Amino acid sequence: MSKFLVFSLRDDEVKAEELFRAEHPEIEYVVRRDILTKANMDVVTADYDGVIVQQIQAMEEEVYEHLANMGIKVFATRSAGVDMYRTDLLKKYNIRLTNVPSYSPESISEYAFTSAMYFARNMHKIQKNVRERDFRWQPSIISTRIQDKVVGIVGTGFIGRETARFFKSVGAKVLGYDLYPNESIAGSLLEYVDLETLIKESDIISLHMPATKDNHHLFNAEMFAKMKKGAILVNTARGAIVDTPALLESLKAGHLGGAALDTYEFEAPYVPKDNRGKEISDAVLSELLERDDILYSPHVAFYTESAVKALFDGAILAADDIVEKGESKFEVKL
Ligand code: NAD
Repeated sequence: MSKFLVFSLRDDEVKAEELFRAEHPEIEYVVRRDILTKANMDVVTADYDGVIVQQIQAMEEEVYEHLANMGIKVFATRSAGVDMYRTDLLKKYNIRLTNVPSYSPESISEYAFTSAMYFARNMHKIQKNVRERDFRWQPSIISTRIQDKVVGIVGTGFIGRETARFFKSVGAKVLGYDLYPNESIAGSLLEYVDLETLIKESDIISLHMPATKDNHHLFNAEMFAKMKKGAILVNTARGAIVDTPALLESLKAGHLGGAALDTYEFEAPYVPKDNRGKEISDAVLSELLERDDILYSPHVAFYTESAVKALFDGAILAADDIVEKGESKFEVKL
């Protein structure tokens, strides 16, 4: 029977962990609350076949080396992203890596849809007026219906597709752009167009592609200038796709109408942490937090009970497959 050591269990994962233990008595594992570091790496002994992690800070080479010395076969992350790990070191030390590539696309889509609707119905302006006791019906808060809007989905993979489904179901016109269009949804769920057309025609643009070196700051001043006046940008994908200072300029100039940012390029020092009473030294992030036309959130689009359970289950089951069957569909090639 395989045995695993689970690191950094959070309070919100306790329920998922208890359920998993009841559902899988055949898998033995020990749970810890701390993250894996050089200081505590000795708790990983030759008793274990694998570690289950969800790191928020980089690990030194000594940690990877120690895992290899203890015969750890698999390093399983309770996340889709693996960018916080040294894949070169996992390869060097012959430790296999697994992730959970798609754990609840509808959770992220629902959040993207909800944030878009917040701006689409001018709730940010209405709330501001209400706080000032200005209850007038006036042109600045009148909306158009979602049925009268065009929504552009950039990246039509698992999450983009679900987001398209949300908007389509309420009657919006949905355009899509992807480097590799999905023929099975073309025409029925959305209409594929080139990026330039999508940018120019959409009232709402929702990003759902990974961050790559080719799309770094793809959404920059030039792109914002091409977007419709009053258009809404929703980014639940990755912060690095958007040039945030350029976005702020476009909002300040009154061109874009609003932006929902669940991800920010330089979020790592602050997310997910309690920053109450602490100074946010990142001036751009501070500005995001002050503006009514920005709906900032700390990378929580995925954050539902079903996603947390799918991440927990997926990581341990992938590790178990590697040890017991020699392969897992969630293995990340190194
Ligand atoms: P996916 O791999 O199923 O889909 C990504 C799609 O983007 C693919 O179809 C791909 O061809 C396309 N693509 C890649 N580069 C592109 C580009 N430059 N222009 C247009 N299309 C491009 O991934 P997914 O599961 O749908 O996830 C999408 C993204 O959502 C992830 O990469 C991640 O950044 C983000 N995400 C965010 C959260 C959150 O909580 N905010 C949670 C999970 C994932």
